[in-house]
Amino acid sequence: MKGAVLYGPRDLRFVERETPTIVAPTDAVVRLAATCVCGSDLWPYRGIQATTQPAPMGHEYCGIVEEVGSSVRSVKPGQFVIGSFFASDNTCPNCQIGYQTSCQHREFVIGAQAPLLRVPLADGTLVATPEIPPAHLIPDLLAVSDVLGTGWFAADAANVTPGSVVVVVGDGAVGLLGVLAARERGAGRIIAMSRHSTRQRLARDYGATDIVTERGDDGVAQILELTQGVGADCVLECVGTQESMQQAIRSARRGGYVSYVGVPHGVEFKGEELFYTHVHLHGGPAPVRRYLPKLIDLVLDGRINPGKVFDLTLPLEQVAEGYRAMDERRAIKTLLRP
Ligand SMILES: [Zn+2]
Ligand SMILES: [Zn+2]
Repeated sequence: MKGAVLYGPRDLRFVERETPTIVAPTDAVVRLAATCVCGSDLWPYRGIQATTQPAPMGHEYCGIVEEVGSSVRSVKPGQFVIGSFFASDNTCPNCQIGYQTSCQHREFVIGAQAPLLRVPLADGTLVATPEIPPAHLIPDLLAVSDVLGTGWFAADAANVTPGSVVVVVGDGAVGLLGVLAARERGAGRIIAMSRHSTRQRLARDYGATDIVTERGDDGVAQILELTQGVGADCVLECVGTQESMQQAIRSARRGGYVSYVGVPHGVEFKGEELFYTHVHLHGGPAPVRRYLPKLIDLVLDGRINPGKVFDLTLPLEQVAEGYRAMDERRAIKTLLRP
């Protein structure tokens, strides 16, 4: 089997890899219907985040169960399943309160940019659809696996409720789906911060009512102007840099909520500044598993189309071009067909 392996900065190769098999009795092996490149894959790709290399890549997936271990009960071969980037037992105390990405037995699911994937803790991790979904829904279901689940958590953690004034910082796939999630949760106004016209269009499509193109202090000034000097009730920080985090916190009203779902890189908080903002901060790796059943239903009911964030589709063997296109911001998100 061939799959994507990162050998060094911007050195992504489609090479022979070991074919996944059942290792533990709780495993499943899934034949992927589609996979994709994540914004977070770009950190190691750009050499900003150190990884042990060569590193198999990919953590977003959906497909048909090929084989299960002897103790797996909730999914069976032939079913179409979706899982998230952390395998979780869904039974420990952290899972029980909805933080499956902090599962006491969590395992990172890696190697999904390939035709086959081993998923540990299959019973707790995978959710099966009632039937095999039609082909046109595959991109939407794949988006549920990470970017939609993460955008949804961003809106949830930022306490988006009916009528909320929401700001979304970041116009990548997660930010755009944060806009969609805010709309689905009934936000009254959704201000998307974006400088790119194609992304602005998709943000509008997903429910953004206003677009702010400025960044940093100018961006914050714009938000304050749009909110009569008060700031937003809810701010979704979907990037993970110092600038975006600062912009997010300063855009929130006193007592407002800031969620952050992009892996922070070099982000530091000044205690005193934070103290006087009176904001609620809540973030972390999105517990996508908590939302999977609901989000799968929304897709199958035809209510949402999160798959529109995939603006480039390539055969899996062209995965290196998929990375390049996202690295150079020619594509929002690349879908790969094994
Ligand atoms: Zn991802
Ligand atoms: Zn757990």
